[in-house]
Amino acid sequence: MNQTLSTTRPLFGQTAIVTGASRGIGRAIALALAKAGANVAVNYLTRENSAREVALHCRSYGSNAIAIQGDVTKKSDVTRLFKETSAQLGSVTLLINNAGIARSQLFLDTTESDWDQLMDANLKAPFYCIQEALPAMLQRQYGRIINISSIWGITGGSYEVAYSASKGGLIALTKALAKELGTTGITVNAVAPGAIDTEMIQALTEEDRARISADTPVGRLGTPDDIANTVLFLASPQTSFLTGQIISPNGGLLT
Ligand code: NDP
Repeated sequence: MNQTLSTTRPLFGQTAIVTGASRGIGRAIALALAKAGANVAVNYLTRENSAREVALHCRSYGSNAIAIQGDVTKKSDVTRLFKETSAQLGSVTLLINNAGIARSQLFLDTTESDWDQLMDANLKAPFYCIQEALPAMLQRQYGRIINISSIWGITGGSYEVAYSASKGGLIALTKALAKELGTTGITVNAVAPGAIDTEMIQALTEEDRARISADTPVGRLGTPDDIANTVLFLASPQTSFLTGQIISPNGGLLT
C-alpha cells in the first residue's frame, strides 16, 4: 500500500460488517469505517431506506458499500449476510457486533419471552456472527472483532436486569475469546458506551436526560460519533497488542 493511502485511509483494502447500521451508533460506525477506507456491509433489520442512505453515504467517501437486510438473531440470515458480503466486498476482516435491543422494566415484570429476545439480540447474535467471521479471519491470520456492549454490562443498570445480563455476557465472551485467539492475529474487544443520544434512549423523559447529563462529568449525553471514534481506534491495524479489553466511552460517568 502506498504511504499516502495508509495514512489517509488506514483501513483501505479491508471489509467490515456492521450489524444494525441503519441508524444510531451503527450508522456512525459504518460511516467512520468507510471514511477510513474500509468497504462496508450495512446490515439492517427493518429500515431499508435508511440503510441504503447509509451505504450511499459510505460510497461518497470512495469506499464500496452495500445495504443487506438480515435478522442477526437468525443463524440462516447471518450465514447469508456473510456470504453476500464476501461475494460483493471481499472477505470480512472487521466485524462490529452493534445491533442490539433494550428494554426498561422491573425484574419481576420480565417475561421469559423478554429475556429470550434480549439474550438473542445482544448475546446470541454476536455468537452467530463471530462463528461466521472466524474461518476467513483465521485463514488470513488477521481480524478485528468489536462488540458493542454497554456501561450497564459493567455496573448493572436499574430496571434493566436482562439487558445488563446480556451485555455483561458479551463482555465475558469478549475476554474469553480474546484469550482463545491470542496468537492468531485476531483481536477481540468491547466498547461499553454510557448514555448515547439515539432512538434507543428516546423513551427517557426530558427530566431523565437532563439528570443523566448533569451526572456525567463532561456534562452531556454521548453522540454516536463518540462511539464510532472508539471503534475506529480498535479497528486499526496498529492495535494488535490490544485485545480482551473493554473501553467505556461514558463521559467520565464510570472511572
Ligand atoms: P438503536 O435502537 O438506535 O438502533 C438499533 C439498530 O439495531 C438498528 O439499526 C436496528 O435495525 C438494528 N437491529 C435491531 N435488532 C436487530 C436484529 N435482530 N437484526 C439486525 N439488526 C437489528 O440503537 P443504538 O444505536 O442506540 O445502539 C446500538 C448498540 O449500542 C446496541 O447494541 C445498544 O445496546 C448499544 N448501546 C447503546 C446505548 C445508548 O445509550 N444508545 C448505550 C450503551 C450501549 P432497523 O433500524 O433496521 O430496525
